[in-house]
Amino acid sequence: MARNAHLLAGRPIYFPFLSGVLEYDCASCTAPCCRGAQLGIGRSRELVALLSISPALALCAAPEFASSPMPALQSPIDACWFLDQRNRCRLEWAVGRENKPASCRLFPFHQVRGCGEYLVVMPHFLCPLTIADVPHTAGHTSHDEICLEMHRAGVPRDGHLRIPEPPDMPWHAAIPLERRIRDVSARHLDDADYLEYAQEQEFITHGVMGETFASGNVARLRDASVKLLSSPNPPSMRTVRMLVALTPYLRLRGAEVPRRSMPYVLTALAVLLGTIESIPGTRITLRAIVQLFEHRLPLLYLLGHLAETPRLQSGYTADQLLRGLPHYSEVFSRLLREVEHNPERSRPRSLAHIIAEDPEVKVPLRPEVVAALWRLGRFLADAGTFAPP
Ligand code: SF4
Repeated sequence: MARNAHLLAGRPIYFPFLSGVLEYDCASCTAPCCRGAQLGIGRSRELVALLSISPALALCAAPEFASSPMPALQSPIDACWFLDQRNRCRLEWAVGRENKPASCRLFPFHQVRGCGEYLVVMPHFLCPLTIADVPHTAGHTSHDEICLEMHRAGVPRDGHLRIPEPPDMPWHAAIPLERRIRDVSARHLDDADYLEYAQEQEFITHGVMGETFASGNVARLRDASVKLLSSPNPPSMRTVRMLVALTPYLRLRGAEVPRRSMPYVLTALAVLLGTIESIPGTRITLRAIVQLFEHRLPLLYLLGHLAETPRLQSGYTADQLLRGLPHYSEVFSRLLREVEHNPERSRPRSLAHIIAEDPEVKVPLRPEVVAALWRLGRFLADAGTFAPP
């Protein structure tokens, strides 16, 4: 399929979502974007229009917006000056969308981050985004329109926060990989299960890295996660669809995770989502998935490696790692020591076996055990290494 190249002053732009797959509807929203936030001012013409309405706004100027060098106006009140009593934007209905400040028109696509030479547009999930029935190449959430809006708003070429490079791949190789994984997501949006998309991510990643891998890794890992979490149900089709659409974004949100581990971490997230969805009264949203991923990432990292055999990297010992902690649970220290001594065994055990054999680990898991697993996941990400099963 022919694709337009998106550039900003010569820098390539990458959108970690399919064109038009994310939707929002300001007319039915109570504008959380306009409460306590700041306005990014892209061009002096916008400032002139705003100052003609309220000259005192100049007193609220600041030099940065959303960590970019675009100037901003910081609202000292709980809500934007231009919200009417029904929480609708007065500027939109009085002077038109084209006269709104740049950041308002761009929202929720105003967060630009640097990944090497690439600029990446990260959606803001304060906006109650939803998934379109079908991705499309026209309309205000299409790549073409967002790119045009970035140019109109005068989004600067440089000065954006950078996303740290993944540990196993430089950005100039990782972004083309991410783009391929994003593009194939279109044919998985209606899958009943996340498994197939995870397997395709695994296949593409190992292909790019020139590595071979054993088939069945994703299914094995999923079964191990289901067992440990005693997950009663897989995620619903609606949740799988949201997770597929969000995957390219989450893969960048978790850039600190090696690219080769990402399909397993996301498979673990699918299992966790199925488990959470089974709690009565829970309705999964895009924002809930993003928050779950951010807050639970160390646990997901651990779940994503259950089928592999762990060890500590050379130069690390359990004693040394524990010494740096003000407090820790018995179960955490036991698990960490088991990981440390795992390579000395005649047959090193998988992480799932190490955890299952701990006397305190019983399903359903107790909160203190989950907290220990969360912490172990964080330590393994920093000081651990894994061998395939
Ligand atoms: S941009 Fe999003 S959060 Fe803001 S009013 Fe529109 S739908 Fe609501």
